[in-house]
This record gives sequence, C-alpha cells and structure tokens, in this order.
Amino acid sequence: MLPAPLDDARRGGARILVLSPHLDDGVLSCGALLSTLTRSEITVLTLFTACSPGPHTRAARSFLRQCAHPDAASLFAARRAEDREVVGRLDARAEHAGHVDALFRRRAVPGAVGRVLPELAHRYPTYRFDIARGRVSRGDRALRAALATDLARRVRDVDLLLAPLGVGRHVDHLVTRDLGPTWPGRVVYYADLPYALSHAPDAAFVRREGLRPHSVDEHPDTVLDRKDALVRGYRTQVDALFPSGVIPRTAETYWSS
Ligand SMILES: [Zn+2]
Repeated sequence: MLPAPLDDARRGGARILVLSPHLDDGVLSCGALLSTLTRSEITVLTLFTACSPGPHTRAARSFLRQCAHPDAASLFAARRAEDREVVGRLDARAEHAGHVDALFRRRAVPGAVGRVLPELAHRYPTYRFDIARGRVSRGDRALRAALATDLARRVRDVDLLLAPLGVGRHVDHLVTRDLGPTWPGRVVYYADLPYALSHAPDAAFVRREGLRPHSVDEHPDTVLDRKDALVRGYRTQVDALFPSGVIPRTAETYWSS
C-alpha cells in the first residue's frame, strides 16, 4: 500500500521531484517505484555532484581507490554521465545542482596548512568520525540556506517531493532530508538504500514529522529486473556498493505522515 500522495502520482499526470543527495541515491532507493510511474513527469535533482581539486583527505583518497578512479574530477564527470544515462532510461530528467560532495567540501584555511595536512582544510576531515556521524557542520549553514531557497523556487511547480529519510546518517543525506519538513503534505521520504539494510531510521525525526512506513513489496520480477539494470548503470559505484556482485532485491520503503 502506498502513501496517498504516491498513490495519486501513480494515477498519472503528477510532477514529481526526487531529491537525491548523490549521483545514484534516487535510483538506488526509488528505482522500482519510479519505473512504474510512467505517466508522471519526473525530475531527479542530485545536489552533491561535484568534487574539489586536491590535495584530498585520506577518506577521499580511499573513496577514489574504491571507485578505481585516481582522479576526482574525471570520476565525477563519469558519475554525472552515468546518472544522465540511467535517469534518461526512466524517461525522467536528470538535473545536477553542482554542490560539492561532503568528502571534498573545503573550508577556508591558509593555503600552506591544507597542503601539508589536507584534513585541516576540509569541513569533514574523516568519513567515520565526521561524515558518517550525522553531525552537520555549522560551516554548512550557508549551503543549507542556499539549498532551501533554490528548492522553494522549484517546489511551486511540483506535486510530489521525494526526499531521503537520511538512514545511515551521512551528512549529505541529512542536509537533503532537512529540506523536506518545509513542504508538509507534498513530501514523502524514501528509506535510503542500501543503508537501510543495516541501519535504523532516525527515530527522533520520524516522531517529530509523524511519519509511518509503507513498504512497496508488490513489484513484479520484471520491475525488479529493470531496477537491477538501472543500478548497474552506475558503473563507477556498483562494485564498491555491492562487493558480492549481488544487488539485494529489497522492498522500497516510503515514509509519510
Ligand atoms: Zn549518498
């Protein structure tokens, strides 16, 4: 059973804006549903689609190694191209907002400091103790304000906003999630896959927004096969995300009030 705004969208004609933190999250989490909404006008807007020049932190270097792409700029160019191709296959529109991914987000320090120890020149020096802790830096306040202003302009022309629930507590996912509560009645949150396989949702946020889960597990095999193929289209990411080579056919879960 789908939340009411999604059910309405399924009948067709809805204008849907999917907020995706990174170049893959929207399809990883909502690919099966989106591939069934063939009569809607769908835009997948990805917020953090850019990197910054080196020297990079140890965490960023390790990510580049995982993606088998030594150069961040060419990796992000490849990721943007993958996303345009995958989202295009859904007959949806891919838009890239061009904000810098948390792994590469810099803060202002004297140049020499950052060259010697790149961690000091980045807003989130480590993955484990900063990015994955779910504590959004105060230095990201201006970024959050800019995102909220941009979204307010766009949401006038949108019937349904799909935003991440921020499961896994990656700071970019939380920054994206936090754009949702301004649009009650129009926003539905999606459980972030694959993080939702191993992490629980943020109980405080769920309670505050009065959200209830709706698992969509009635998708036929053809839809799940199509989603599998879409996810595999993110060639630079799929091996690091699913080292076993198997993409779990998990039910997508949507949360609404
Ligand atoms: Zn992500």
